[in-house]
Amino acid sequence: MDPVHVLNRSYLRVTVSPSSYYSRFFKSSSTTPNSVTTVTSPLTTQKRKEPRALKSTELLNALKALKSGSRCSKRECEGGQHSFVDLVQVAPQLEIRLVCNAAVLPAFNNLVANDTKDDAVAEILNNRYIMPQESCFYMSDLGQIRNLIPALTDSGFNLIVVDPPQENSSAHRKSRYISLQLIYEEVETCYLFCLGFSPWGVRNLAQLVFLSLPIKQLTHTEGALVALWVTNREKLRCFVKKNGSWICDLDLFHHRPYECLILGYSPRKVNNTDNQSKFKPVNNDHVIMSIPGDYSRKPPIADLLLEYVPGFKPSRCIELFAREIMAGWVAWGNEPLYFQDSKYFVKK
Ligand code: SAM
Repeated sequence: MDPVHVLNRSYLRVTVSPSSYYSRFFKSSSTTPNSVTTVTSPLTTQKRKEPRALKSTELLNALKALKSGSRCSKRECEGGQHSFVDLVQVAPQLEIRLVCNAAVLPAFNNLVANDTKDDAVAEILNNRYIMPQESCFYMSDLGQIRNLIPALTDSGFNLIVVDPPQENSSAHRKSRYISLQLIYEEVETCYLFCLGFSPWGVRNLAQLVFLSLPIKQLTHTEGALVALWVTNREKLRCFVKKNGSWICDLDLFHHRPYECLILGYSPRKVNNTDNQSKFKPVNNDHVIMSIPGDYSRKPPIADLLLEYVPGFKPSRCIELFAREIMAGWVAWGNEPLYFQDSKYFVKK
């Protein structure tokens, strides 16, 4: 699969810049930030205990200071990219402006939608982000994920792709992610979901599955295909020991340039046999080959999965822990706009 080719099906007016996607093969000449646009809305920031309004210049200075801090990778600093993980701390009430209809909306803890059949541009501070047609994002920490649970179960999702942050030495080195282990510690209740059949490359499925995510509540009444990315570490493919405790002692022996995608079904909630949708059952042991992009960036697998998705078409799809937005999808995570920055695109 050529990810750039696949991603470009989502856009009408822009194309994904190959030189920024295939970052390991090209010099990042196209990572020059876009020309400065106006700050579109009054910005306020809130400290946890003493809320106080910040002027936009103060906020930009705070942002620069954050970017020069150790959490920001060299590439991010050079590209002038916002770190949303940091921004939510200094500017939780930051606003985003959709250029198509001039709507000004909260950027965090809010469902932002491009309902049009065209690409939309969204502005935050001095940066522009491209939203593909009929897409939504919800930018928040894990604590707010339950806000995504639909009021009506038939508004749930038929395809749920999950790419949680996983502990490994590379993630440690880059210190970009809060690890899965920390998430477990943060969340008191764990929602176990069981995958219904043998997944690719994993033997003992019934034991496996975990995740502090409300998968069941996000599932459509017709059921959902759940696709979970797991790093290539043998230990991480057996998430729990027989006694139910986590396997968390993680040591990387050497780099392996592949990851596993475990597939399973979150069961349907209705037993209406007359009305059952048809879908193809998944086979074991498929291999998807793709050209690697940025650190931990996964290839766009939606089209490969759609025939295995239960429910009526078009399928309702969500990506959890997303760093980009697909046309027709909902993207959730603490940085779903990361790869939507206009610096990753070129005009058609
Ligand atoms: N699928 C993504 C891609 O292809 O680029 C990579 C996802 S990366 C493995 C995990 C993501 O989870 C990161 O964007 C990270 O910032 C986010 N994340 C980590 N801790 C989080 C939390 N507590 N709440 C929400 N998102 C979190």
